[in-house]
Amino acid sequence: FCSEMPQNEPILGYMKNSKEREQLEAAIKHLRSCTDEIPVVIGDNEYRTGDYFYQVMPHDHHHKLAKVYKATPDLINLAIKVATETQRCWEFVPLNQRAAIWNRAADLMAFDYRQILNAATMLGQSKTVIQAEIDSAAELIDFFRFNVYYLSQATLNKPLSPQPAQWRNFMRFRGIDGFMAAITPFNFTAIGGNLAYTPALVGNAVLWKPSGTAVLSNWHVFKICREAGVPAGVVNFIPSEPVDFGRAITTSPYLAGINFTGSPKTFNWLWVEVGKNIESYINYPKMIGECGGKNFHFVHPSETDIESVVNFTIRSAFEYSGQKCSACSRMYVPHSLWPKIECGLKEKVTSLIVDDPTKYDTFTGAVIDNLSFKKIKDYIMYAKNNSGLQVIAGGKCDDSIGYFIEPTIILTRNPHDKLMKEEIFGPVLTVFVYLDRDIQKTMELVGCSTNFALTGAVFAKDEKFLKCALEMFKMAAGNFYINDKSTGSVVGQQPFGGARLSGTNDKPGGPYYPIRLSNPQVIKETYI
Ligand code: GLU
Repeated sequence: FCSEMPQNEPILGYMKNSKEREQLEAAIKHLRSCTDEIPVVIGDNEYRTGDYFYQVMPHDHHHKLAKVYKATPDLINLAIKVATETQRCWEFVPLNQRAAIWNRAADLMAFDYRQILNAATMLGQSKTVIQAEIDSAAELIDFFRFNVYYLSQATLNKPLSPQPAQWRNFMRFRGIDGFMAAITPFNFTAIGGNLAYTPALVGNAVLWKPSGTAVLSNWHVFKICREAGVPAGVVNFIPSEPVDFGRAITTSPYLAGINFTGSPKTFNWLWVEVGKNIESYINYPKMIGECGGKNFHFVHPSETDIESVVNFTIRSAFEYSGQKCSACSRMYVPHSLWPKIECGLKEKVTSLIVDDPTKYDTFTGAVIDNLSFKKIKDYIMYAKNNSGLQVIAGGKCDDSIGYFIEPTIILTRNPHDKLMKEEIFGPVLTVFVYLDRDIQKTMELVGCSTNFALTGAVFAKDEKFLKCALEMFKMAAGNFYINDKSTGSVVGQQPFGGARLSGTNDKPGGPYYPIRLSNPQVIKETYI
């Protein structure tokens, strides 16, 4: 149990000659020098099937980092059986024992394996050291510690209502019988760990399908958790073809829920498959999903701190090449401020170094894979070939060595253009310059020009406007920032998620998230 709110894990600096830099470099060297073999793991058994793929480095795609074995449909079905059986015992392990394992895992991540997790995230997902440290160190560790705290708090048997002398009411949080499926994204190692291990903490057994482009870092998370004491079969590691995995889980009567981060297209498909099988389940599967965004920065004419607006926008739009779900990808700027902001953005963006992320002066690495590269490039080509759009910075794409795309800024005259509407998931920022007198009209546009509603930010000095923005943008973002960038939510401080097409908004990193993954039971105990 954990009765005190944990502190957020500090982010390390990696200064020259520091111990942590030395350890990180050793870990990078080690991972570069071998091709790790990653099996499917079900219960206590590892499986190396005849079907495998290689995880490559996005910034040097000839380099094979890991050979990853894929689970066949039969193996996925076996994993379902093993998980469902394991859940029946795991449920009865007291929460304080489970909590101790999770806290041990967090300590192993913080002290013993921090550098290998960071190195795997840097090489495999093309993150710079600072982006890796935010993700596979701080956020991952925070998820483990805070979820233990939140679940402990919820379980402290606080009275449900006035307690008469003759009886007592209380609520406890059980796992759900069957198995949960965690389908996790490439962009945050921490999300992989959270989606697979928070359901398990609550008492569920899990099949974890990592993203094919993040298997290496996810595999290290899995191994650390086993070492910390997560019993075999509680989380099963199932790299596999998405369709095979989706079909197998949705056709099993024991599907207790899907904990998902990825595209709306895949999430929609899962809902449809669940719908087709709805008569067959022993529980209604819980569908929990985070599906991306089309996040905005809105600048008000009263803003005077242009430098902050520029810096925050550059960071939000281009850190990790715009591949955070929260990244700013559309910006609204008043005509009166545009000359200064344009100048600042252009100056800043041309100074960003796009290169191998393990070099310390690199600002951002490559985009994740060939598919992403092509998709982002197509959007940039669309802008170059469209007379209503103007590429004002960046625009170069080069996949000869790695999947490199320059941070790109596009100006649009049409606030409804698809660049203001569709998620690109790359380093592309589209700006719409509005007439100062059209501010009201433009604010209305922000909420309705896209179906996403994940994050957004406003920049202003005018207090009255800020109050009004809080109301006007109420439904436009699940995480809303005032005079700050739209990225960088911290576990425990800004639980994260959005509604509409952005997902079910269950706010991982907040107190209600573990509860949402549980199966609560209320008990009335009468004294006779
Ligand atoms: N929580 C992260 C942030 O605020 C983004 C998470 C995501 O990409 O899904 O930047």
